[in-house]
Order: sequence, then C-alpha cells, then structure tokens
Amino acid sequence: MAKRAAVQNGAGTPRIVFEDVSKQFGKNIVLNELNFNVAKGERVTLIGPSGSGKTTILRLLMTLEELSGGYIYVDGDPLTHKKNDTGKRVAMKTKEVSAIRKRIGMVFQQFNLFPNMSVIENVTEAPIHVLGQSKDEAREKANRLLDQVGLGDKAEEHPTRLSGGQQQRVAIARALAMEPEILLLDEVTSALDPELVGDVLGVLRDIADTTDITMLLVTHEMQFARDVSHRVMMFDAGHIIEEAEPDAMFSDPQHERTKKFLQAIL
Ligand code: ADP
Repeated sequence: MAKRAAVQNGAGTPRIVFEDVSKQFGKNIVLNELNFNVAKGERVTLIGPSGSGKTTILRLLMTLEELSGGYIYVDGDPLTHKKNDTGKRVAMKTKEVSAIRKRIGMVFQQFNLFPNMSVIENVTEAPIHVLGQSKDEAREKANRLLDQVGLGDKAEEHPTRLSGGQQQRVAIARALAMEPEILLLDEVTSALDPELVGDVLGVLRDIADTTDITMLLVTHEMQFARDVSHRVMMFDAGHIIEEAEPDAMFSDPQHERTKKFLQAIL
C-alpha cells in the first residue's frame, strides 16, 4: 500500500485545523485549548483510553456538539465560529455552517441507518435532499457505491434484514454518496461480531487505497490503524501526548502512558 504518497504534509492549506479548541460538558472539561492540523488526503488515527475525548473531536467536526471555545477550520473556512475584524469570536450563520458541514461524512459505531427506508433509500436520501441530485442520478451512484461495498444485491432490502456488518457497509456507502472531502470513522467495527469485522475493514482499506479522502479514525483495530493511517495521535485527558507515524508509534512508543495503553490492548 503506497500510503504515504498522497499526503503533502506542510504544503498548502490544511484540510482540518483545530485551533485552541475547548469543550466542556457542564463542569467536565473534556478538551482544553487543543491544537492540531490534518493535511489534505491524510489519514489520522486517534487512540487513547476511553473518555480521553476522541469521539468528542469527531462530533465537534460533524457539528453534533457545540464548541465551548476556539475554532475549527475546514480548508481554511471557519466551521462554526470565526474571528471578526476586531478579533472577537463570533458564531457563523446556520447556512454557512451547513455549507461546510456538507464536506464531512461520518460513520458511527451503531450504524444509525433509517430503519423505515430501504438500503438504496438510505443511500440516496441526502444526495437528493441536501445536494439536490435527481432521483435517477442519486440511484445510479448509490448502486455503484453498493457494488463497491459488496452489497449490490441488497439495494431493495430493509436494513433490519441485514447483518451488522452489512448495515455498517451501507452506512459507509451512505456517507460516501455525499462525496465528502473528510470521512470520520468512530469505532465503526466495535459493535460487530468478530467474524463481520473483516469485511467492513476491507471496504475501508479499499477506500483508503483508491481515494484521497481525508480520514479521521477512532478505532481499536490497531493492525488496521497501522496499515491505513499516515499518523497516529495518542490522547490522554483531552491532550495529544504523543504523535508519530504508525510504525514508530506501535513499535517504539516514547511516552510511558502510550506504552501502557498499547500493552493493554495489543
Ligand atoms: P472517548 O471517545 O475518548 O472515549 P469521549 O469523547 O466519548 O471519549 O468522552 C470524553 C468525555 O466527555 C467523557 O468524560 C464523557 O463522559 C464526556 N462526554 C461525552 N459526551 C458527553 C455528553 N453528551 N454529555 C456529557 N458528557 C459527555
């Protein structure tokens, strides 16, 4: 896998910038002035103990949670807040937020398919209603994506009749149908029976190999993370305590906390 070729780290505008991002739930400060960048085409895996803020980072990008402080930029455009001319932090308008938010897709641990719709309706719903594609155009593309995730023959099925692994592959096709520049993957195999994990990871490897979509992944599948990521960031209590290319991170972690964490899960 020529995984490092696509990334031009340090060149051009980063795809994602977190600048002094803070997030608290009540009194619980989960992220405190967090800073990091992700380059265009880069695939970054977030690892770290449960509760260290990994999912919150993805949900902030997806605008499913509100920022408590700081800024997130996508291709240089402020996502939910910007600095105005006098340097004051102001919220973006809803319309502006949704325009940028369209560039981001997310796949969740629990699939989150619409249970009352067929597989193909799940995949075409947003392209038709959000992107304004014609029904024919959306269906043609959805069929191609369903083929790609190995479910070309399940288009008319209802999701409840599919296995968890198949449902997750529909969720991946649904996210890709929006042609996102950024794909967020939040423990997408954690709810699956072990024998179903391989197919889902296979689909994701294929996407990593054949597209230059920027990916942010939270996963416990360390071999997968090692194979597909360009960079791994280790979180503890909302802070990046170590980051490295995956081979270095997994073979030769520097921080005691990382060593302990990897020993416990590998
Ligand atoms: P991770 O993904 O690393 O396991 P999370 O981002 O899910 O961590 O959670 C970080 C912290 O934020 C935890 O203490 C968690 O309890 C808290 N948290 C996450 N979501 C919410 C929420 N909606 N309401 C209150 N607390 C939350």
